[in-house]
This record gives sequence, C-alpha cells and structure tokens, in this order.
Amino acid sequence: MNVYGVVVHGGAGRLRQGTKRKVLAEVEKAAVKGFKALNNGCSSLDAVVEAVRVMEDSPLFNAGVGSHLNLNGEIEMDACVMDGRKLDAGAVALVKSVRNPVLLAKLVMEETDHVLIAGRFAEEIAKRHGLKVGEVYTEKAIRIWREGMEKLRKGKVKYLQRLRGFLDSMETVGAVAIDRRGNLSSATSTGGLPLKLPGRIGDTPLIGCGTYADNESGAVSVTGIGEVAIKLVLAKTICDYMAHGLKAFEAIHEGLLLVKERQSNLPIGLIAIDRGGNIGIGHNTPEMPWAYMTNKDGRILSGLSFSEVNK
Ligand code: ASP
Repeated sequence: MNVYGVVVHGGAGRLRQGTKRKVLAEVEKAAVKGFKALNNGCSSLDAVVEAVRVMEDSPLFNAGVGSHLNLNGEIEMDACVMDGRKLDAGAVALVKSVRNPVLLAKLVMEETDHVLIAGRFAEEIAKRHGLKVGEVYTEKAIRIWREGMEKLRKGKVKYLQRLRGFLDSMETVGAVAIDRRGNLSSATSTGGLPLKLPGRIGDTPLIGCGTYADNESGAVSVTGIGEVAIKLVLAKTICDYMAHGLKAFEAIHEGLLLVKERQSNLPIGLIAIDRGGNIGIGHNTPEMPWAYMTNKDGRILSGLSFSEVNK
C-alpha cells in the first residue's frame, strides 16, 4: 500500500495556560485539511500549503494573522514552500502585511525565476496576484511585545537568555506531506522570534535550514530558535540522514542529538516524513503541538508533546 499523509506542527516551546485545547483543535483542523487535499488527489505541495494556511489564519499561532512583533513593534513574517519532485522552492522574508505568507512563497516559486524575495517587492507580488493584504496585528502579539519590552528595559534578560525567555511565544507553524504518487513537500511560516532585531531573517525561509523536501530523501519542517537551525543547516541535514537510510523518526532523533552536542540543546522542534511514508516528530522543548493523518491510520492523531505519540 502506498502511504500518503500529512504532519503539522504548531511551534516548539511551552504553551500558555488556557490555550492548550484550542491549539490542539487548530493543528488537528490543519492536518485534516491537508489530508483531505491528498485524498482528493491533490499534490503534497497543495496539502502542505492548505495545512499551513489554516494555522496562518488562526491568531493562536505565530504566523500570518497571529505574528509576533519585532523590537520596533513591527511585523516581519517569513515563509517557505518546497516541492521535492524537482527541488522547486519559493520563500519570502520580512513581509509586513500579507495574511497568508505561505501563498506568497508558493507564488515566488511558481511565478518568478527566484527562490527567496524579501521585503517590499514581495508585498508587491502579493498585491499583483490578489492575495489578502492588511492588518495582521493581534492584541495578543501587542501584549507579548509590551511585556517583552518591559523585561528588556529592566535589563532582566540578555540576548540568548532572552530567546529562552520567549519559549512560551514561539508558535511557528509547519507541515510536511507525501502524496499518492510518493511526492514529498514541506512548508513553514512564522512571524519570527518575538522582539527580534528589525531585518532579522530566521531559518524558516532559508532552504535547507527551516524547510526542505526532496523526493530522494524526505521532507522536514523546523521550529525553534532559527539561528540554531541555520548554523546546522538542520532541515537538509535531517533529509541527508534519511537519504542514507534512516527512517524519519530516527533522522529526527539524530537531528536532536546534533542540536544537543553542537548547540547546547537550544530550543528546536522537528517534523519529517520519509519516502516510505514513515513519520517523525521530535522536540527538546516542553511542548510542540502536532497532528498527523495518513491513509494507513485513517484517523487524526495529535498531541501537545512527542511523548504522547506513543500513548
Ligand atoms: N524558527 C523561527 C525563527 O527563528 C521561530 C519559531 O520556530 O518559533 O524565526
């Protein structure tokens, strides 16, 4: 039997009190949406885009409408899609007002000769193609920004500590999928780290760092501190493990060991699918909401942390 299915994550970190059930319902909704696309014969690329779009439309996540603010109190979103058939990829960075940056990343892939477009012209492409553009500030993002600025002003936290201090506000979203024809795809979308420096681009839109898919190995979406994933070229590294024969969950295990050995176990979360349709989910943070659905299981599976997968 050809396995097809989709896995999603809602960001590595620690969930805030009172949000857990809602977040779980949203990641499930995203996975179901992606799986329905696969069931209807759509490509894995369509499935990951559909799944990520659901989470970008939810203010619960740090992507699209729920994006966090940078140090200046502005929104700068990053997103990426990759199609493992021919390694086609599209990404955007520093986007301020597009509601679904994942759709814009797909446009970059399909309508331009480039892979990554940052800033104003990316917004221009969105407008030209009729994507929804407008206010994406939420009260939650503004409150988190105010609280963070207060801590910084009091000098309570320094740079890396500051990143750890925002563990409960990461909430980036991503999806990986394999379709009926065995094609693999990946998509990731984020508002980036809260209070990041203006102009900072994380791992999400950098091919091989936060997002990668190759039919010859697997598909990976990364969440956590982008700088860690960039230094380790983490998504591609995990795909390489799969190319060398590791199953998705083994490759993720190796990836987390690498983070522990080389990057002091700074916060990272990972999802993957390999060519055989095996699924991998892992994180070194207290939580990372996830959900998946395959034709093999025929039902939605979800949890707030990886250990729950074995329950
Ligand atoms: N990886 C994202 C970034 O560094 C943040 C996250 O995953 O929450 O921009």
